[in-house]
Amino acid sequence: MHWTKTVAALAAAGALYAAAMGVRFSGKSALKFTTRLVSFGPRPPGSEGLERARAYILRQLAAAGCRASEQAFTAQTPLGPKTMKNIIAWLPGTSGKAVAFTGHYDTKLMPGRVFVGANDGGSSAGLLLELARVLAKQPRRHDVYLVWFDGEEALLEWTEKDSLYGSRELAAKWERDGTLRKLVALINVDMIGDRDLRLVHEGYSAAWLRELAWETAAELGYGRHLGREEGAIGDDHMPFLERGVPALDLIDFTYGPDNRWWHTEQDTVDKLGANSFQLVGDVLIAVLGKLERTKP
Ligand SMILES: [Zn+2]
Repeated sequence: MHWTKTVAALAAAGALYAAAMGVRFSGKSALKFTTRLVSFGPRPPGSEGLERARAYILRQLAAAGCRASEQAFTAQTPLGPKTMKNIIAWLPGTSGKAVAFTGHYDTKLMPGRVFVGANDGGSSAGLLLELARVLAKQPRRHDVYLVWFDGEEALLEWTEKDSLYGSRELAAKWERDGTLRKLVALINVDMIGDRDLRLVHEGYSAAWLRELAWETAAELGYGRHLGREEGAIGDDHMPFLERGVPALDLIDFTYGPDNRWWHTEQDTVDKLGANSFQLVGDVLIAVLGKLERTKP
């Protein structure tokens, strides 16, 4: 199809341009950021580990030259009111439209266990830091928001009320202040560091955006990492989808044999691979290029 060829050529031109600027997305660097975040230990909402992770993320954003702000709020949880903080970096463009890349940086509260969430909570936060480092140095048309959500995980058991605290808060705020209307797309990443990466063909996501990502990944030679079987996963993209934003969740939900490493002490950095971060970073940057050219 003509459109496909055109956007592929444009995406390739974008990648060449980025390369000429001397800043390329590095899976190794994203893994390094993740490893550092994991070194702070368990990072559930309100913990010292999460406080240190937040300070680290803000320092890295400052070093990359990104404007960042914190969105503090009080979440009503089954364990009582909890203060949580999203981190939002804003890279201004010129078109008046925006694209958001999001993911969570908290880890699941597991009393009595040392759960460090290398893949679940770590990988999304590390990948977003590498995106910040790269995108801060590139010219762009659309504004780019990079968001680290607090409180993605349930504090007790996953329900609509006990989960997605940070994304629900930001979606409501962005609806009030008009930011939602500028968003042409929001792509959330979660558990994308698994060395053996296989992305879920996530069923709640906006179909056109999911197919754009799948087509782009295939063009980049990553086809074997793309799931085709439909799975539906409630994640931080949901509050935005519910408000009419085209949103996509990129998630691998086969982490270890029978997903055995998910939400266990086995979720450690040795299970992660730089190549998986590279794949997701390359796809996101190419998709951003396509969105800037086809959604003016
Ligand atoms: Zn989780």
